[in-house]
Amino acid sequence: MGTYCVTGVASGIGRATKQRLEADGHRVIGVDLRDADVLADFSTPEGRQTAVDGVLAACGGTLDGLVPCAGVSNMDDALMVKVNYFGVMALLDGLKPALERGTDPAVVLISSNSTSTNPGFTRADVAAYLDGEQAALAHFAGKSYLAYPTGKAAIAYWVRRNAVSPEWGGKGIRINAVAPGVIATAMTKPLMDDPTMLGILESMPIIAGRWGQPEEIAAVIAFLLSPSASFIYGQTIFADGGQDAATQPTGYPTPMDEMS
Ligand code: NAD
Repeated sequence: MGTYCVTGVASGIGRATKQRLEADGHRVIGVDLRDADVLADFSTPEGRQTAVDGVLAACGGTLDGLVPCAGVSNMDDALMVKVNYFGVMALLDGLKPALERGTDPAVVLISSNSTSTNPGFTRADVAAYLDGEQAALAHFAGKSYLAYPTGKAAIAYWVRRNAVSPEWGGKGIRINAVAPGVIATAMTKPLMDDPTMLGILESMPIIAGRWGQPEEIAAVIAFLLSPSASFIYGQTIFADGGQDAATQPTGYPTPMDEMS
């Protein structure tokens, strides 16, 4: 059985993931602002370092898996940039040596189906994350509607690049992501409680005919962490009731001659 770090364990998908992994017999070191083994705030450099130090102390320097699940979706563009992308990057960097010492180590990042179902952003917007935190904060200032889907797209691109890089894949660390659709958690409750937003959500093409539950995402994460997924590298698995497929029926595969 493995020792895994999961962030965002106080609520929603992170909490369901911790419960699922523990039910499967694993040890989980949880990180969050509250109700966790390690209390840390991913929006600040100090908080990120606190998280890394706390997890390394708790695991003794060896980790078999990492699920950076903590995230925010609101009108605060800066907070989304800080937590959803740069907080995740800091944790990956800080825990990489511990993962290298793990047994069949695996990382599952949390993307989103907003990457393929939200209009209004370009690959250039996504690339703003590669220019560093200050540049990204400036790029998305006043554009909260862009900060969330672009950050999640930047995560998905990071997964593809690094799953096959000498520094990650080459060191035996298997990296994938899950892209949830609308999941009933504290994050989406304010939307569902707002009649206008609820109307927009209900107009989405979701063949499942319902919102997802956090346990359904936890199941995908548990699979991607497990030896059952041992030949899967660099993929983002959509778990969204069919919304991505309905929105972009020919979105995948990208013919090789059309690749950017
Ligand atoms: P949630 O609000 O239920 O849980 C998020 C958790 O992250 C909370 O426990 C919160 O305390 C923690 N967190 C937030 N900011 C933090 C910070 N600065 N430092 C440390 N911890 C912090 O949300 P959720 O729906 O479970 O979302 C989990 C992940 O799934 C997020 O990355 C989110 O973007 C992603 N996601 C969610 C949905 C959805 O519909 N719920 C869809 C796609 C992707």
